[in-house]
Amino acid sequence: IPVDLFDLVIFGGTGDLARRKILPGLFRRFCAGQMPAEARIIGAARSELDTKGYREMVREAIAEFGGEQACGDEHLEKFLGQLEYVTIDARGDQGWKELQQLVVGTDRVEAYYFSVAPSLFGDIAERLQKWGMADDEARIVVEKPFGRDLATARSLNKTLATYFNEDQIYRIDHYLGKETVQNLMAVRFGNMLFEPLWNSQYVDHIQITVAETVGVGGRGEYYDKSGAMRDMVQNHLMQLLCLIAMEPPAQFAPDAVRDEKLKVIRALEAVAPYHIVRGQYQAEPCNESENPGYRTAVENPRSRTESFIALRTEISNWRWAGTPFYLRTGKRMAARSSEITVVFKDTPHSIFGDEAGRHRNVLSIRLQPNEGITLGVTIKEPGPGGMRLIDVPLDMSFAETLDPDHVDHVDAYERLIMDVIRGNQTLFMRGDEVEAAWAWTDPIIEGWEARNDVPKPYDHGSEGPTDATELLRREGREWRKVK
Ligand code: NAD
Repeated sequence: IPVDLFDLVIFGGTGDLARRKILPGLFRRFCAGQMPAEARIIGAARSELDTKGYREMVREAIAEFGGEQACGDEHLEKFLGQLEYVTIDARGDQGWKELQQLVVGTDRVEAYYFSVAPSLFGDIAERLQKWGMADDEARIVVEKPFGRDLATARSLNKTLATYFNEDQIYRIDHYLGKETVQNLMAVRFGNMLFEPLWNSQYVDHIQITVAETVGVGGRGEYYDKSGAMRDMVQNHLMQLLCLIAMEPPAQFAPDAVRDEKLKVIRALEAVAPYHIVRGQYQAEPCNESENPGYRTAVENPRSRTESFIALRTEISNWRWAGTPFYLRTGKRMAARSSEITVVFKDTPHSIFGDEAGRHRNVLSIRLQPNEGITLGVTIKEPGPGGMRLIDVPLDMSFAETLDPDHVDHVDAYERLIMDVIRGNQTLFMRGDEVEAAWAWTDPIIEGWEARNDVPKPYDHGSEGPTDATELLRREGREWRKVK
């Protein structure tokens, strides 16, 4: 179903994010028939380009990052025909009149994507208002990082609130746009089966892992000032934690969902120092030039920034009191894998005797790769061998069940941009959520800074420092293998 007619202005329309994600994503929505033929995408950036040059740039970006779902040359030409470009200076006057003439006075949804450094958010918001583009109907999309602590996030919220209402601000966290995240909500709240068991009485613990195989790459300078806690935990892992732990909202509606997420963040326990393990990756042996260690990669031989973090927290409310939540994320790990795992408790008594062993139900929600949800259930091993038990996965993802030709695979960015045009904020972070997340994160960071904590080294391609394994082992548990 096509969305309403829109003009989408992409500030930073020539940047890495626009070329890799936003523009190829929009092309795929065009191919799927969701983008109206008269809709316009207006790139606005510092580069001195004209519309023709921009269309060529986007053509190349789609060829490089468009994926398998691109839909042929004829469509590509039509899509490119819907692009415009304005050279603009976010901090000056250049380009703003031209942009105003393009978008003001049209009867369309107006969306402005701030795909630029956060230091420019305020300048752009101010100029949108000055040039008459910040009316009550306009929407703005802002990228991470949203602040680097509570004070900066508050200040950014305050700046944006000067020009826009909260219901116009779409703070993007692409993890929320993933199919499986929404499937998680369908599984939790669309079935009678899970909700009665979804609490500390039946759940032993929950793990959330976001493992990457890449290092800091070209982002070394930025990353070294940030680290895994700010770059990943405060936003992505926190959002996943909220969705897995929140109470059922009354409706699947923006504020109903976000109110429940906020309550989870506010109920998070402070994390004790012995429940945190920070790490820094080592160089790949015999291949140091290609895969250097963290400190070499960020060109800071004394860096104490973490490229890995594992921590244990609890949620102080009736549903979850006493249930450990283990979070872990890192770079240069054994595999690229994002997974939430709900490990249920043992059955109270095994009628099959000790030989059958203890078996636990494990619900695994996999965000990447191979998005999907599986539930491990225990059954009898087929055959004449007596009562032997084995665990088998019950697959709850669409790949096996639905006809793949009839499933429209939508990347997180595409889905979220279409939600902006539809005016649906459910999968976007509200200002108070972001601030609450920083309010929990700040004391943890201040704690290790005060202790002069030095991250533990870990091997390239590993599961992180051995202390992270110990974090669970000393409580009689173990991490799911990163694979
Ligand atoms: P980039 O450096 O590749 O691109 C920056 C863009 O901003 C360019 O188009 C540039 O022309 C424009 N720009 C810079 N100064 C300007 C000015 N004064 N006036 C007008 N335009 C100006 O950055 P990026 O990687 O595309 O990231 C953009 C934003 O998205 C950042 O906030 C980043 O943190 C965030 N982000 C990026 C990624 C990613 O994968 N690249 C992922 C998540 C979030």
